[in-house]
Amino acid sequence: PEAITVGELAKRMGEKGADLVKELFNLDMMVTVNQTIDQDTAELLVEQFGHTIQKVSEADVDIQTTEDDDPVETMVPRPPIVAVMGHVDHGKTSLLDALRKTNVTRGEAGGITQHIGAYQVTTKDGSKVTFLDTPGHAAFTEMRQRGANVTDIVVLVVAADDGIMPQTIEAIKHAKAANVPMIVAINKIDKPEANAQKIRERLLEHEVMVEAMSGDVQDVEISAKNGTGLEELIEKIALQAELLELKARPDRPAEATVVEAQLDKGRGPVATVLINRGTLKRGDTFVVGTESGKVRAIVNDQGKQIKEAGPSMPVEVLGLGGVPSAGELLTVVENEQRAREVAQYRQEKATEKRTALAPTSFDTMFNKSN
Ligand code: GDP
Ligand code: MG
Repeated sequence: PEAITVGELAKRMGEKGADLVKELFNLDMMVTVNQTIDQDTAELLVEQFGHTIQKVSEADVDIQTTEDDDPVETMVPRPPIVAVMGHVDHGKTSLLDALRKTNVTRGEAGGITQHIGAYQVTTKDGSKVTFLDTPGHAAFTEMRQRGANVTDIVVLVVAADDGIMPQTIEAIKHAKAANVPMIVAINKIDKPEANAQKIRERLLEHEVMVEAMSGDVQDVEISAKNGTGLEELIEKIALQAELLELKARPDRPAEATVVEAQLDKGRGPVATVLINRGTLKRGDTFVVGTESGKVRAIVNDQGKQIKEAGPSMPVEVLGLGGVPSAGELLTVVENEQRAREVAQYRQEKATEKRTALAPTSFDTMFNKSN
């Protein structure tokens, strides 16, 4: 059962708090405006004052998002979002660094890359690939737990001089559970003891059948150290992306998923987001989690301020009211009033949840009212 403070109810009814307290006194209830009453009492009061009860459902207040409600004809191809997974020391960080570098040299000269949790690489034919620069299965599972499925393709890194290890198996499980296609990158191929064929065979034991073993999982031999096979890896990602027919509508208010966020000393709360659909623009009003905000600046993966960002783009957003969690959805709304309304509703719900969980005793009740 929901509870409401007398003050809040008075506000919603457009009556004076003191009048409600007086009416409650007549009903033999001694409460102050700051105290809460249950739903039945609230409904009784509303009727006593001759008002009608308007039940507001969650769907009316909160924002319901469905990623697939854009008409097909409004959607255009978007770059794939790729997560790199694999066992510790198999070369995830080295691969992400190497891929980013191949792009920097091709892109604008002297472009300083900064770590923003995700970055985009442009392929030879001009298409783009977004890489999540947060390797580790924790980020992946955390986001999935929040219902965020941002990853389109998993690149599974396996060191050719090692083999299938516990975190390799874990990554395979994650990808399968999320129904995300995998590309196997057999790394450290430059090492004399590397044995790519052994890896392919061992993968069979975990129901991963690469093309060379007559399966349909793409695999590629790479060396993150000297750059071997990186172009081929990107080509295979692009090919896989084509098969997935990834699309999103760009000309609508943006929806984005938080990849990571932190409190920056100079800039305040900063979130790295991936745009799911729509276009995020400077000045847009939004809600993320229980906070509302207004886009003060958008920073791309090159550290440059940009005016807007479209589907699959990774960007930093400034202008948040607080620090959101990874996996939370940022939704652009029509105006500040709407943003505040949704944020407040979510805050109230969060408080209700906390109160419901908190131990109550007469002591705390009396302390509160004094
Ligand atoms: P992570 O734990 O998966 O992120 O692995 P790292 O990227 O930190 O790499 C672990 C170690 O393997 C480091 O010492 C790297 O220099 C080395 N390494 C990564 N890729 C290669 C490669 O292609 N060839 C060789 N020889 N060493 C590599
Ligand atoms: Mg690493």
